[in-house]
Amino acid sequence: MIVMKFGGSSVADRAQIEKVLGIVRSRLDQKPLVVSSAHKGITDALVKAAREAAAGRLDAETVIAKQRDIGRQLGCDDGLLETMFDDLRSLLRGVHLVRELSPRSLDYVSSFGERWSTRVIADFFRRSGLDAAAHDVWDLGFVTDGAFGRARPIAGYEQRMKAAIDALPQGRVPIVTGFVGKTEEGDITTVGRNGSDLTATLVAAAIGASEVQIWSDTDGVMTADPSVVRSARNIPDMRFEEAAELAYFGSRVLHPATLLPAMAAKIPVRVLNTNRPDHPGTVIREEVPPNPAPVTSIAYKEGQLVLTLSSTRMFGEVGFLGRVFEACTRHGVEVDMVTTSEVSISITANDRVKLERAAADLRAIGDVRIEAGRSILVVVGRHLAERPGLGAEVLGAIAKAGVNVEMISHAFGAINLSLVVRDADVSKAVSVLHGVLFEEPRA
Ligand code: ASP
Ligand code: MG
Repeated sequence: MIVMKFGGSSVADRAQIEKVLGIVRSRLDQKPLVVSSAHKGITDALVKAAREAAAGRLDAETVIAKQRDIGRQLGCDDGLLETMFDDLRSLLRGVHLVRELSPRSLDYVSSFGERWSTRVIADFFRRSGLDAAAHDVWDLGFVTDGAFGRARPIAGYEQRMKAAIDALPQGRVPIVTGFVGKTEEGDITTVGRNGSDLTATLVAAAIGASEVQIWSDTDGVMTADPSVVRSARNIPDMRFEEAAELAYFGSRVLHPATLLPAMAAKIPVRVLNTNRPDHPGTVIREEVPPNPAPVTSIAYKEGQLVLTLSSTRMFGEVGFLGRVFEACTRHGVEVDMVTTSEVSISITANDRVKLERAAADLRAIGDVRIEAGRSILVVVGRHLAERPGLGAEVLGAIAKAGVNVEMISHAFGAINLSLVVRDADVSKAVSVLHGVLFEEPRA
C-alpha cells in the first residue's frame, strides 16, 4: 500500500482534480490510500470566518460559496455538502453569539475544509469510473490528544488504524481527510496549519505503507526556493536528516514535523509534482546513493527575532546558560539558533510576545536587546563538516555581496551551517550563495 497526499494547490479546482484522478488511476496497482488537503484557500477562508465571527461580523456564506463553486465545477449534487454547510453556519453563529473563539472552536471550524474536499473528490472519482470513498480520518482510528492546533495521535493509534484500514473493502480507493483528528472524548482537533503532510506520514507509519508520496506543485525538493533563485534545481535523493533540517528552516515543500513518523518507520517519502507527474521528484530516505556535492540545498526563514543577553556575570559562572533556557522554557519560547561568547548569548525565536516575557525575566541577570526583521539562512549538506574551506567560501560570498552576517552556527560534524542576516538581505544572500555553491564550476 502507498499513501498519496495531495496538497491544497493540487486539489484547487476541477482542472487540478482531474490531474489527481489521472495520477491515482495510474498507480492503482500499488493500492493507494489518498490523503487530501482542503482546496487551496478554503482553510484560510474558514479561519477568517471564525475570527470575524468572534469580532462580531458573521459571514458563513463567503466560504460556503467558494466550496460550492468547486463542487459544481466537478458536477457534484448541490445537496452533497448541505448538512455540513449547516453545521458550519450554526457553529459560526455560536462563535458570533459569545464573541469568543477558543482553540477548540477554531479547530472545529478549520476542519470543514478537508471534510468537504474529500467528499467532492470521492464523488467526482466515482462518477469518473474510479471506485472511491471519502473517510474522516478519525473514523479510521486517528485518535489524538486534546492539544488543539497542534494535536498528535495518542499511543496505540497505529493498531486501531491498521485494523480499520485492513477492514475497508478491497479495490475502493480511500480518500482520507488530512489535517484533522478527534480526541477520545469526540472533540475535533487539527495537527497544525499545513499539517496534511504530517497526517500522511502518520497514517503511512500506522499501516506500514511502502512509500509516502507528497504531491504538490514543485519538482520535488529544490536546491533553493525557485521563486528567489531561478536556476534552482531538483535534488533527486536526500537523507531524512537533510530534508528535516531544510523543512525546519523554511523550505516551503515539507512541514517540519512531517518526516519524523516516516523516519522512525523507515518509510521513504517521495516529493512529486501534480503538474508534471512524470518528473521523478525527490526521494527522501535513510540510505541514499553517494553524492559528492558538499551542499544539498539552501533554505531560509524570514521574520525571526534575535535576543541578545550580555552579562559580565556569565564569565566563569556555572549554570548561567541554564538560567537563560529556563526563562525561555517558562514562557514557552521555541529557540531555533543559539550562539554564545564568554559574555553574551544570542538566541533566535519567532514569537514576540513570549520572547518579551522571557526578556523581562532575563533583565535580572544582564542587558537584553531584541532585534526584529531577521532571517535564518541555512546551508544543508551531508559533507559540510568534511570540506575544508567551505565555511570561508560561504562567508566570503556573502560578504562580497555586501550582506552583513550577524550570527553564525555550525556544530561539530553538523550537516548544516546557519547564518542570521537581515530580512532585507536574504534574497540577495540566497542568490549569491546558490551561484557559488551550485552554479560555478568547482575545483
Ligand atoms: N488545509 C490545511 C491548511 O491549509 C492543511 C494542509 O493544507 O496541509 O493548513
Ligand atoms: Mg496547504
